[in-house]
Amino acid sequence: MDNKKMELHRLQSKIKGRLIFPEDGDYGSAKATWDTVTDHSPSVIVEAVNAKDVIETIKFAGEESQKVTVISTGHGPTRAADGEIMLKLSRMDAVRIDEDAGTAYVEAGAKWAKVLEEAAKFGLAPLMGSSSDVGAVGYTLGGGLGWLARKYGMSLDMVNYFDIVTSDAELRRAARDTCDDLFWALSGAGGAFGVVTSMEIRLVPEIAVYAGNLVYGHEDAAMLLEKYAEWTESLPDEMTSALVLANFPDLPIVPEPLRGKSAAMVRGCFAGNAEDGERIVNDLRGWKSPVIDMWSKIPFSAADTISNDPKEPIPLTITNVTVDELSDKTKAALLKMTFKDTGNSPILFTEVYHMGGKISSSDRSESVFAVRDAKYVIKVMGLVPAEESRHSFTAAVIGLKDELKDELNNEAYPNFLEGLEKFNHPGRLYPAEILDKLGRLKVKLDPDNMFENGLDIVPVP
Ligand SMILES: Cc1cc2nc3c(=O)[nH]c(=O)nc-3n(C[C@H](O)[C@H](O)[C@H](O)COP(=O)(O)OP(=O)(O)OC[C@H]3O[C@@H](n4cnc5c(N)ncnc54)[C@H](O)[C@@H]3O)c2cc1C
Repeated sequence: MDNKKMELHRLQSKIKGRLIFPEDGDYGSAKATWDTVTDHSPSVIVEAVNAKDVIETIKFAGEESQKVTVISTGHGPTRAADGEIMLKLSRMDAVRIDEDAGTAYVEAGAKWAKVLEEAAKFGLAPLMGSSSDVGAVGYTLGGGLGWLARKYGMSLDMVNYFDIVTSDAELRRAARDTCDDLFWALSGAGGAFGVVTSMEIRLVPEIAVYAGNLVYGHEDAAMLLEKYAEWTESLPDEMTSALVLANFPDLPIVPEPLRGKSAAMVRGCFAGNAEDGERIVNDLRGWKSPVIDMWSKIPFSAADTISNDPKEPIPLTITNVTVDELSDKTKAALLKMTFKDTGNSPILFTEVYHMGGKISSSDRSESVFAVRDAKYVIKVMGLVPAEESRHSFTAAVIGLKDELKDELNNEAYPNFLEGLEKFNHPGRLYPAEILDKLGRLKVKLDPDNMFENGLDIVPVP
């Protein structure tokens, strides 16, 4: 047995979880993530079951000068692990609700579905996003833009503390109420400073919401975009919504009426009285009856039905830009990019999220998250099963960014950037002075950049 293997066996003897090696039969399934485009090849996979396992793994990585790729539930954008240690946290999925405090303690591997289920027992709900299948901690470290965002803010605005193991193998608590620099950094640049083992979040009352989709044919897309820009000028904060330009693939996971078709939709969630919500959506219906109208009163626990994201892994890629207004030039460019090659487009969805409300009014000194002022986040997703489709997606997005270079804000939204783009361009996420402050914190907490695979913040001496 070579030295490295002996050292790894020493690590195995110290942890409760399991080490998985390339020669093990389940190595392939253990390293697979939801995003099937990123092909990881770690030297070893550590499946941690508790914080002590994480501490021992990080101690080992430090002693062996190894980089660590952290995977909570594998739904996120990550640069491919190549010879590093992959630290998987999906077995650390405890969730505990404190009814009196209205909070949830959530371990790193827990999905929103579990938080939702536990919180609902007490009439409470978390600020989850479009899919309860996504990991709560990974989602929150990148911001967390969900269907209650304009009413309550981003998911990171609800965090009381993060527990984190830093590169010196110390378990620390970074708390909001101590105005901690580490708390500030994790709230939007999580992934660069250590392994978050758990967090405590505040919950909100679980109410019935008025939510759904209005679906129009793609021939109505230009006018719907026009109406959406007007509609979002005067919406109350209870309404969080998005306009979607879609090229639905011809696949069985897509419902029959939409399969293989292009469409334009307005989807969202009104977290208030259903009659008020209906009245507000009627402003759009009044322009033209949709082909399909799915808005109705639903419990917030059924919010997955708004986006109907697939649960099965798919070859997806994702990017985004942010803008302060939907100018004529922006609208025209989005329509052109999405529908240029209808029937054979590299673009799956172009989704225009309406920001503002509590997202922009939350205290910005508490978090590094930099997309507070943008009025819209424009997410672009592509299905890229082959190299060719990946190239055409990239070309379409580069074309869009070129065309709109005078209209776009500097910062992009971290959770909607695929791994390599996030890795190569941290300057797209934070302004220069913030990057500099993050770099100085990095020197203190991760001087050798053990966690570079999450987000490459260069240490600034
Ligand atoms: C179907 C789907 C729907 C989504 N909907 C939304 C949405 O509505 N709103 C939104 O904001 N985002 C959304 N996202 C994006 C999602 O929030 C991010 O991709 C998030 O990173 C996923 O968390 P995860 O635990 O699966 O991350 P993972 O894939 O496990 O990790 C991704 C990276 O995040 C970092 N990371 C994750 N966990 C930790 C940890 N515990 N400690 C340190 N670093 C960590 C690491 O750098 C890691 O490499 C969606 C994603 C999918 C696939």
